[in-house]
Amino acid sequence: MATPSGRTKVVIVGAGFGGLSAVKTLGNKNIDVLVVDRNNYHGFWPLLYQVATGQLDSASIAYPIRGILHPYKNADFQLADVQGVDFDGKKVLIEGGEPIPYDYLILAAGSAQFYFGNNRLAETTFSMKDVDQAEEIRNHVIRAFEKAQVETDAEKRKQLMTVAIVGGGPTGVELAGAYAELFQIDFKKDFPSLDMSQARIALIEAMGTIMMPFSDPNVKGASDLQKSVHKVLEARGVEVMLNKAVDSVEDSIVQFKDGSSLAAGTVIWAAGVRGALLGDKLGLELARGGRVNVTEELSLPDRPEVFVVGDMAYLEGFPWG
Ligand SMILES: Cc1cc2nc3c(=O)[nH]c(=O)nc-3n(C[C@H](O)[C@H](O)[C@H](O)COP(=O)(O)OP(=O)(O)OC[C@H]3O[C@@H](n4cnc5c(N)ncnc54)[C@H](O)[C@@H]3O)c2cc1C
Repeated sequence: MATPSGRTKVVIVGAGFGGLSAVKTLGNKNIDVLVVDRNNYHGFWPLLYQVATGQLDSASIAYPIRGILHPYKNADFQLADVQGVDFDGKKVLIEGGEPIPYDYLILAAGSAQFYFGNNRLAETTFSMKDVDQAEEIRNHVIRAFEKAQVETDAEKRKQLMTVAIVGGGPTGVELAGAYAELFQIDFKKDFPSLDMSQARIALIEAMGTIMMPFSDPNVKGASDLQKSVHKVLEARGVEVMLNKAVDSVEDSIVQFKDGSSLAAGTVIWAAGVRGALLGDKLGLELARGGRVNVTEELSLPDRPEVFVVGDMAYLEGFPWG
């Protein structure tokens, strides 16, 4: 497929770490590169929890993609939500626009939240996967405390001042720690008429320890790191709830599979992760975690011109998938 420049065209879907790494390699080469993303910014997700808890503004972790591409004269950007790929016709299908032709395609659409088959949770809990969602959480918590200030019913006030975080992995732990600081330092000053000892942060984990990815295979039970994180969080006032599998969340009530429940004005889902939802629209058989099977060259087994990189890809035998 010759572009107007007559050069080979590489389309990269996703301007995350994977997509931008490809741009760096292909930048200023004798080819045309088009980056396509549904957002016009590259997000630095490791600090997203700080946006959700008001410690950082969004601009600190979101960099304009067009600006990032300035040094690469052969690279351009198109804002579009990718809906699928016509592999035979070599075209990327986008929402509300003309298909984008390619010679080579790099799919780097990242990951999505996983709800263990209970997709209703996507509607009743907050997710934290991009800047818009993090801002939504931040605004919701602030509004909940504003409401709490004028709430006369003690139980309702307590509920408004409760943040439940489902998932004791790194994201849940970071969020819980940041809320502890926010409530005890900033909110204590911001809401002088609220009794901050009533503010509650519950970190809910279905397994017997938090920080599951950091288990030590040589240790039975929780590793030193897991125990230490648990201890620090509790010292900061976080309620760590282990062996608590969530059954449902409706009307700000977290219902557990063991029959107990928790009333929380804010419920954040940080419990599961899977490959980007774009994977479901490719007509391919997906691997574990909703990710796309790739060869050692990171290409599709029967399509050497299509590569899948980053969180979206699954390589059998690779220690981290
Ligand atoms: C909250 C959070 C905290 C994290 N903390 C850490 C950490 O501390 N340390 C660490 O090593 N890793 C961390 N990670 C994981 C790390 O961010 C990812 O492994 C990394 O971003 C993966 O890069 P990627 O390019 O595959 O996907 P991403 O960086 O997620 O980029 C995917 C891009 O694709 C775009 N996209 C998705 N779907 C479409 C579509 N249909 N159409 C168009 N564009 C689309 C998105 O807008 C996004 O720009 C964290 C992740 C999250 C969500």
